[in-house]
Amino acid sequence: MRAARSKIAARAPAHPGATGPRRAVRLLVLDVDGVLTDGRLLYGARGEELKSFSVRDGHGLKALRSAGIEVAVISGRRSAAVRRRCRELGIRHLIEGAEDKLAAFVRLASRLKVRPAQCACIGDDVPDIPLMRAVGLSYAVADAHPAAKRAARRATALSGGSGAVREVCDLLLAAGGRKR
Ligand SMILES: [Mg+2]
Repeated sequence: MRAARSKIAARAPAHPGATGPRRAVRLLVLDVDGVLTDGRLLYGARGEELKSFSVRDGHGLKALRSAGIEVAVISGRRSAAVRRRCRELGIRHLIEGAEDKLAAFVRLASRLKVRPAQCACIGDDVPDIPLMRAVGLSYAVADAHPAAKRAARRATALSGGSGAVREVCDLLLAAGGRKR
């Protein structure tokens, strides 16, 4: 009995929680529509595009960057509202109009000298799936398309635009970001 116990102990990591994939995350990549927002596109009278963002998501993203985890936004669309939100949050890596999000991510990761295994992403729909498969840790928001949920490693409890991003930020912070 004692021998069996010691075998189990030998297989267990020395510091559970310190060796999981979240511990190694250096870059979090976000989709915009359906992740940072609820996915709805609102158009004003002059044709301007309006989006609503979660203030709580913003606090989480700032905390993440303070902990040494970089944040990037890769969107298939172009939006002045997104550019403004990224400026507010100090997000320096915004790629807009990305028809191929995986290709955009690979170029960015190379430039930042991070391996895909050190990256996490949050997505909500089919265009995010190749990126989800490339990174070390992928999340689909709670209200993601079923195909994106199947492709992602995990699903958030909260929906896009309603705290899903903050939820992932808190998980990554709890796992321990790199201290600056
Ligand atoms: Mg989306």
